[in-house]
Amino acid sequence: MNTDVTHDPALTSWVESANAADTDFPIQNLPYGRFRRKASGEGWRIGVAIGDEVLDLKRVHDDIPWSDALQALLRPLADGDLNAFMEQPSSQRRALRQMLSQALRSDSPLQEVLSPCLVAQSDIEMSVPCRIGDYTDFYTGIHHATAVGKLFRPDNPLLPNYKWVPIGYHGRASSIGVSGQQFRRPQGQTKAPDAEVPSFGPTRRLDYELELAMFVASPNKLGEPIGMAEAEEHVFGLGLFNDWSARDIQSWEYQPLGPFLSKNFASTVSPWIVTMEALEPFRSPFQRPEGDPQPLPYLDSATNREQGEIDVTLEVWLQTQAMRDAGTSPHRLSQSSFRDAYWTVAQLIAHHTVNGCNLQSGDLLGSGTLSGPAPEQAGSLLELTQGGKQAIALPNGEKRTFLEDGDTVILRGFCERKGARRIGFGECSGTVLKAG
Ligand code: CA
Repeated sequence: MNTDVTHDPALTSWVESANAADTDFPIQNLPYGRFRRKASGEGWRIGVAIGDEVLDLKRVHDDIPWSDALQALLRPLADGDLNAFMEQPSSQRRALRQMLSQALRSDSPLQEVLSPCLVAQSDIEMSVPCRIGDYTDFYTGIHHATAVGKLFRPDNPLLPNYKWVPIGYHGRASSIGVSGQQFRRPQGQTKAPDAEVPSFGPTRRLDYELELAMFVASPNKLGEPIGMAEAEEHVFGLGLFNDWSARDIQSWEYQPLGPFLSKNFASTVSPWIVTMEALEPFRSPFQRPEGDPQPLPYLDSATNREQGEIDVTLEVWLQTQAMRDAGTSPHRLSQSSFRDAYWTVAQLIAHHTVNGCNLQSGDLLGSGTLSGPAPEQAGSLLELTQGGKQAIALPNGEKRTFLEDGDTVILRGFCERKGARRIGFGECSGTVLKAG
């Protein structure tokens, strides 16, 4: 593992809330996001989450006389341009992590000058963390692929390509919004199996998909594939991602070219990007189950076998309008882990570029729905309700097959391991509004 002093679980911060056992943002995390103070009229700027606060990197850059090298690293961040920082080599990203870790630790002499650079997270609003030029969605959740396949092909759920080639499609970046996103129930064309002709109207099978977002760091040139050895150098970090899906529109439109309007009306991403550096203590070996084919050589490397997987626990929570009206907390629908994905981050980068396709910094790659092996670990309602046939019961007596107007879906994620400090991803929430 590539851990260093910034991962030391004993490290504490002079920002007291960062030392709480249950915070998502201890000093070992240091995720990046784009924010502005509420009702301030100021431009978007980049910050780092620490406990309940954000370190405003524009003020850090403007107010403190750093070395020339650190000033240069901070400049794009001070300008609110996370993409320009994401393009830097990982050695530069590590250098800034070291600096921030030293500056925020309990014994730092910089506490006095940095304190005015903090702003409470309750006093800010956030945007998508970077400029997302392109968005690709993969299908790495083998338990999701199997469960969904079973609904249509009980005897042969997985198509023959699944264990050989990472399946994906090109999505649409323009409709990706940040946590807190609200969107109208989409309308579209659907056809019930027993209907002769399709009908038009609001989707009746609106679903969420529990996914992780991978953000591309440095780009590759068109025509120059990224090999497994360099793949993770091109990844900046991970966030939570909800790929909202209209199942009835999807089932009518998806053949023969794949999802289209059933997926591109809204997708929600969490505001904080947890860097690949912060995730180092949570790596695990990549292993294929007994009897499964080994990856082709271009998707294989010793490093990937030793530590290709990342153990991120993921959760879906639901708060209905009735729960909100009654002041009831959200209810957890499921829990799963990124470790159960069939392909690793490095394999997705290598595969995406093997034909020469060029990735750009800020591009978002979705993992696909991450369901666990047990039925209750499903990352979508399609699976939890057996294709809408078995409603799930909520603690207040409400039932759901698919989402209703006023429902808020909240994704959460965190990494926990013995010998490491727990880090979290914050929240990715979105709310369904009545069709317009
Ligand atoms: Ca998806």
